[in-house]
Amino acid sequence: MTTPPAATGAAIPPGQAADFGGPVGHGEAKRWFANSLAKGCLSGSFLLVGPPGIGKAALAKWIAKCLLCDESGERSLSCCGRCPSCFQVEAETHPDLVQVRKPEDRAFIPVELLIGPAENRMREGFNRDIRLRPFHGTRKVAILHDADYLNDEGSNSLLKTLEEPPPDSLIFLLGTNEQRQLPTIRSRCRIVRLHPPRGEQAVELMRRRGIDCDAATAERAIELCGGDCQAAAEVLTADGAKLRQAITQRLVTPPIRPVDLAQVVTSVIEDLGKAASSAVKRDRLRDILSIAIDTFRQQLIDSADRPEQLAPIIYRLDRSIEAIAQVQRNANQTTLIECWAADLARGNPA
Ligand SMILES: [Zn+2]
Repeated sequence: MTTPPAATGAAIPPGQAADFGGPVGHGEAKRWFANSLAKGCLSGSFLLVGPPGIGKAALAKWIAKCLLCDESGERSLSCCGRCPSCFQVEAETHPDLVQVRKPEDRAFIPVELLIGPAENRMREGFNRDIRLRPFHGTRKVAILHDADYLNDEGSNSLLKTLEEPPPDSLIFLLGTNEQRQLPTIRSRCRIVRLHPPRGEQAVELMRRRGIDCDAATAERAIELCGGDCQAAAEVLTADGAKLRQAITQRLVTPPIRPVDLAQVVTSVIEDLGKAASSAVKRDRLRDILSIAIDTFRQQLIDSADRPEQLAPIIYRLDRSIEAIAQVQRNANQTTLIECWAADLARGNPA
C-alpha cells in the first residue's frame, strides 16, 4: 500500500473500530480507506490488486455503497444497507456508480466502453460518465473491472482521467497483479494489495459458502486456489474432494498415463455443460492445475531425503505452474491439457 495522502483531521486510532463491516477480511485496506475518509481526503484513482476471487470487486462495491449511502455520515466508512442508494449500488443501478467490464467475447476491454463509439467519441463511455455531475449525492464512484485486459489504446485513453479525476470522485481499477498494468497506469494510481484471508476470517468466508471447516483447512484450500475463496469452497465440497482424489491419485501412482489423465481433466471440464462460459471453464482448469501443483509440492516435501527422485517432481511442479500461466494467456484448452499430461508422464524436458 502506498503512503496515505497528507491531510489534517481525525484519524481512526489503531485498535478502534477493528471491523468496519462489509466483505470479510481486507482489514488493512479498509482501515486505510476509513482513515482517508475520516480526514476528508478520500478521492483519486486506486489500483486494487490480488488474485481472482479474493474479493476486489466486493471491496470496491462496498466502499462505493459507503460513499453513496443516504444514511451514513459523510466521513464514515459505513453504510446502512437499507436506503435506496444502498439497494441501487447492490443492484448496480445507482446513477453515480460507473462500471466497466470486459465483455466475455472480447480479448480486451473495447476502447468504445472507455471513450465512446467512433461516431460519439468522448460523448459516451467511462471517461465521460465519471465526469458527469453526481445525480444523487455529492460523489461519483467508478469501478473498472478486469483491468488486466486493458490494451495500450485503452490504457492510454484512461491516463488523463486517472491523473486528474473529478473532485470527490473515486476510481477503482481491479487487476490481479500490478505488473500486468502499464507503468503509466500504475504511476497514476495508489496501489492497494489485497491478501488472502487467514484464521477466523478464512473460516468465516468458507462458512458463508456453506462449508464448515477449521482454520488450517480453510487456509490450505485458499492457498491451493491461489487466493480464490470461491474456488477454495468448491475444493472443500464433497464433489471437490472426489475430484481432488481422482487427480491426485493419477499423479502419484507411477507411471502417469497421459491419455487417461487428459481424459479425466477434459471430462471434469465438460461436466460444466455446453452453456458454461470459457471463463468458467478456464477457472475449472486452473483449479485442477492447482491441485497438481499442491500434489507435487507435497511429493517434494515427502521425498526430501531421496535426492535421486527429486528431478522429475521438480519438473512436473514447474510444468504445472507454466500450464496455469498458459491458461491465463487463453491458450487452447485441449492442446494445453494434452501437452501438459504428456510432459508430466515423461517427467523431464523434451
Ligand atoms: Zn444506505
